[in-house]
Formats: sequence, structure tokens, C-alpha cells
Amino acid sequence: MNTHNHAFNEISVPLPREVDSEIAGDIEKESVFVSPFIDRIFVQDGKTARVVCKAGADLAEVEAKAKRFLEVMVKQVSGFEIKVFVDTKRKDTGPYFRGVNDELVKRGWMHDYGKGQVAYSGPVLKLAKLINDKAGELYASALGAKDAHFPAMIDADTLHKCGYFDSHPNAVTFVGNVVEDFDAIEEFRLANSCSEGALLPKQEHIHIDGMCLNPAACFPAYPTLTGQTFKEGQCFTWLGRVFRYESRNINGLDRLYEFNVRELVFVGDEDFVRDVRKKSLPIVEELASFIDIDCQVQTATDPFFATVSAAKKFWQAAQEVKNEIKIPALSNDGSQKLLACGSINLHGNFFGKRFGFTTVNGEPAQTGCVGLGIERWVLAAFTQHGFDESRWPEAVRNIIFR
Ligand code: AMP
Ligand code: ZN
Repeated sequence: MNTHNHAFNEISVPLPREVDSEIAGDIEKESVFVSPFIDRIFVQDGKTARVVCKAGADLAEVEAKAKRFLEVMVKQVSGFEIKVFVDTKRKDTGPYFRGVNDELVKRGWMHDYGKGQVAYSGPVLKLAKLINDKAGELYASALGAKDAHFPAMIDADTLHKCGYFDSHPNAVTFVGNVVEDFDAIEEFRLANSCSEGALLPKQEHIHIDGMCLNPAACFPAYPTLTGQTFKEGQCFTWLGRVFRYESRNINGLDRLYEFNVRELVFVGDEDFVRDVRKKSLPIVEELASFIDIDCQVQTATDPFFATVSAAKKFWQAAQEVKNEIKIPALSNDGSQKLLACGSINLHGNFFGKRFGFTTVNGEPAQTGCVGLGIERWVLAAFTQHGFDESRWPEAVRNIIFR
């Protein structure tokens, strides 16, 4: 064991206050965004941060930055009472399967590109489609939801209006193009015409004009509502392609850069929006029972960027505007964890005001949304049933394994 190397690359920083496992988990996850010279920060005993640095780090600078990060992260309030609204129990009595991602790759049902993107086919694709279709059907029959479709790119002004840069600036992906310049384009073409690997254009030859990859399924819907008056409430549903820059936190189907979300957006007055949120609970229950999995819906908060995390999490928890669909699955080490497989959100009149759509009395309309992370549902289902077909409910196995 190379202890010398370890000692050189690590700094111990006492936390400004003792934290519980919830905040410790947030610190570890968000630590990949602190510095290019910090590999990760680990919390020990809730009291000390172990900062693992990369080669070439200026340790004094890194320590100062880590301290600023920890200072804002420990301001988070945790321990809000968790309310559980749905709690389904599976009939399958077999054990949870550990190592689903590896097994799917081994069987040739999934290809992991290694950068947070996956390709899938066979039973994985069939299950993803089944979950997506079933959710769409339930939304249509229970809520009269209409089908919609939106682009995968979104412009920065829309994201700004949605408040995304203020909440999750670390997760944004900007699209870059080669500048409209004959010489720059030719230089790029020539460089690549005989190179072994791809050579990217020079930094100064790339322009970013504000197109982004959409980081939350519902955002592209709001500009299409501008100017509309909602006499009655309406529901829209679609499969959205979503991109979040998760840096080194990417991990199989669990945490992707690019994933799919079955989205439901509801627009109307306050009563309508609260009513749809209520009606969405038995729909989640039915979906979970259909694939026979343990599943809960409970109060939750978002993983906001460090500097705004404490305030925004507190607001979300206090107002109870976010519920999460949590499905038990396994961590890489085999311990059980709750996988966030979807969220049910109330936005008040935030989007109605920002994008200018109203109820019949001229007030900004209220909105809410439900987003189901398809790949996480797939991961959770394979974790809970494993690869013995007989353990899957008949209606599901007859579709996905045929
Ligand atoms: P959110 O809008 O943050 O509540 O996200 C909606 C759902 O998308 C979550 O509940 C997850 O199921 C899923 N999701 C979020 N981030 C990822 C990711 N990096 N990889 C896969 N699924 C994700
Ligand atoms: Zn949404």
C-alpha cells in the first residue's frame, strides 16, 4: 500500500459543524464540482472532511476552496419529517439482484459508452417501452392527458426564465459550434482529415450561442403555453430526453448524463393542480403494482448547487412542494438504498407568471409536473426481480422476455 502517496494527496478539514448522514451524502456527491484538483471529498464520522486531491494541486488553494464549499453545505437543515403517501409491496419473495448494470452488459442487452450514455435492446428496451407506454395510458385514462412532443435542445433564455441557472448551474450543457468562418472551418476539417483521433476545434473557434441540452423534461413545454388562457385545467404528457452533466458521479443506469423521462405537466387553477397531484399517487401505485415492485412516494428536496442549497432545500421541504418516488435498490457495495425514480412537483404560479399564461379570471395559472426516470425504473425492476423470468409478473414477462 502506498501510504506516502495517500498522505500527500489528501487533506483533512474539520467540518464547521457535525453533520448527519443525509448532509454527508450531499457533500460527497456535490464535491465533484468543487475544483478540477479535487477528486472527491469524503465525510468521516460526520465531523471531518477527507479531501482527495489530484496530482499537481496547490494544496493551500484547494483547502481554501474546499472550506468555502463545506461552509455553505453545512448550513443545510436536515431531518425534516418524511411523510409517506404510497407504500407498495412486491409479491416476488426472491432476493434483490446485485450488479444489474454489469449483468445487462454481459447479456448484450445494454451497451455502456462510459460517459453517462447507454444503448439498450431486448428485454431492457421492451421494459423501458412498457413502463413508458403504461404511464402514458394511465395518464390518458385517469386525467385525460394529451400527448405532446418537444425538442431535446433548449435555449439559454428559456432555461434562465425557468430559474435553472440559479438552481443547478453545474448541470447545464451548452452546445458549441465551429464559428461561421471559412478559415476556421477549413482548419478544423484539415486537422481531422488524417488524424488518428478526433481533434477538436481551437477554443477560440468554438462559439456557444446559448443552445443547451434540455436538463428537465417539463421546461420546453412552458414557452408553448405563453398567451393561453386555461378555462379548465389541462394535462399534457410525453417522453422527454433529458441531459444533466453529472461529472464523475455517473454510474450505469443509476446516474446517466442522458436519460429519458415520462413527463406529465398539469396547468390550471390551484384546486385543479392540487387535485391532479393527488390523482397521480394511485397512478404511481398502479404502475408499481403492475411490475410488482416495492415502491414509496414521500416528501423530498432537490440536490441544488452548493451556494443556494440550504435556502432552496429549506423552502422546498417547508412548503412540501416536492414528492419523490423512491424504489428500493442496491448500492454497488450491496447495501440497500432508495433510488429516486420520479418526482411529483408543484410549481405554484412560477411558470404561469414567467411565461404569461393564465386562468380564466386573468390570474397567472398554476402548474405541476410528474417526471418518471425510465432508466431508473428499469434498474429498480431488474434489481427486485433479477434474471429468473418466473419471478416477474406474468403480464410483464410475456412482453419483455418474448
Ligand atoms: P427531477 O426533475 O430532478 O426530479 O428528475 C426526474 C427524475 O429523473 C428523477 O426522479 C430520476 O428518476 C430521473 N433522473 C434524474 N437524474 C438522473 C440521472 N442522472 N440519470 C438517470 N435518471 C435521472
Ligand atoms: Zn418537471
